[in-house]
Amino acid sequence: MKIGILGGGQLALMMIESIKDEDIDFIVVDPNDNPPASKVAKCVKSDFDDENTLRMISDECDIVTIDFENVPSSSLEFLEKKIIVHPNSHAVEICQDRLKEKMLFQECGISVTDFKKIDSLEDLNDISDQFPEDSILKSRFFGYDGKNQVSLKSYSKEEAFTKCGSKNLILEKKVDFARELSIIGSRQQTGETVFFPLIENIHSDGILNHSIAPYVDMNLQNIAESYHRKLTDKMNYVGILVVEFFLTNENKLLANEMAPRVHNSGHWTIEGANVSQFEAHIRTIANLPIERIKINGFSIMINILSKIPKTLLTELSENERFHDYGKKDRANRKLAHITINHSDKSFLLKRLKEIKSFI
Ligand code: AMP
Repeated sequence: MKIGILGGGQLALMMIESIKDEDIDFIVVDPNDNPPASKVAKCVKSDFDDENTLRMISDECDIVTIDFENVPSSSLEFLEKKIIVHPNSHAVEICQDRLKEKMLFQECGISVTDFKKIDSLEDLNDISDQFPEDSILKSRFFGYDGKNQVSLKSYSKEEAFTKCGSKNLILEKKVDFARELSIIGSRQQTGETVFFPLIENIHSDGILNHSIAPYVDMNLQNIAESYHRKLTDKMNYVGILVVEFFLTNENKLLANEMAPRVHNSGHWTIEGANVSQFEAHIRTIANLPIERIKINGFSIMINILSKIPKTLLTELSENERFHDYGKKDRANRKLAHITINHSDKSFLLKRLKEIKSFI
C-alpha cells in the first residue's frame, strides 16, 4: 500500500516513523527543500495545487492524507475523484475557517465564546462596543500558533484590523479560562472512535509551550468524547481529529478550534501510550485494526522553539526522550520536543521546571 502525505513537516515525519511492521510506503509532497519527512520517505518538491503533482499522487498512491491543514481543499477535491482521501476535503475546508468551525460547533450543541464575523473596519467599529475591550480579533484563515490574531486592548481598531489582514476576520470575546484541554480521537471507517485521554495544554504567546497527560476527569472526558463524535459524524470524518477547549472556572468546556490532523498536544503518545496518535491515524486511514489505547502513567511534552540549547541534551536522562525535527533555527519555529513519562505527576512538574531553566 502507498500513502501520499501532503505536507512534509515533523507531523509527516512522525506518522511515517510510527509504522514499523506493515507493508506501507509513503510519498510526501512539500513546497520546501528538505522538509523533516524527507529523511524517511521520498519527497516531491511541489506546491500543493500543482496539477501534475496531484496526478502523480493519484496514479501512485492508494490513500492521501495531510500533515498541514492549509492544503487547498480544491486539491483534496481533485484527488477525491480518483483515490481515497482522509480527512475529506469538506472537513478540511471547515477546519480552515474559524467561522465555519464555530458554526459547526454550535450546530452540534457545543458552546463557544461570543463571536462576530467582521468584514470591514465599519463592522468592527459598529460592533466593538458590544464586546469587552480585551476581545481578540483573528483572521478566519491561516491562523495557528497565535498567528494573525491580536487583542484589541493592545492596538487601536485600525491597527488591529490591518494587522489581521483587513478581510475575513472574526472578533472573539476573551475567555477567562481555568485551563486549556484537548481531546484526540481517531474515527474509524466503521464510525467507531478510538480516544486518547484529555490533555492539558499550556500556551505562551499563543504557542503551545507544554502538554501534560492525562487530565483526569471522567465527566469531562465523556463530554469531550461526545462532542468529538458529534463533529466527526457530521463531517463524515475518518482519521485523527483534535478539538481544543477552554475549561471555564465553572468547569464547562468551550470549544476553541479543531485540527484535521495529528496534533502537537499528542506528541507524548509516542512514548506515553501503546499506540501513538501517529500510528492511530495511519492505521485508521489504511483500515487496519487498532488496539485499545492504554497509557503509561503521566507524560509531559515540552516544545523547543527557535533554537535548541546545546546544554539541554546533557541535562536529559536516558528515558527523557528528545525528538529533533532537523529544522533550521528561526524565531518561534517548533524545532524539537522532549517527552518524559513517570508514574508520579509531581516528579514531572519538578523536571519541567528544571528543564525549562535550560531553554
Ligand atoms: P488559537 O490560534 O485560536 O488556538 O489561539 C492560540 C491561543 O491563544 C489559545 O490556545 C489561547 O491560549 C489563546 N486564545 C485564543 N483565543 C482566545 C480567547 N477567545 N480567549 C482566551 N484566550 C484565547
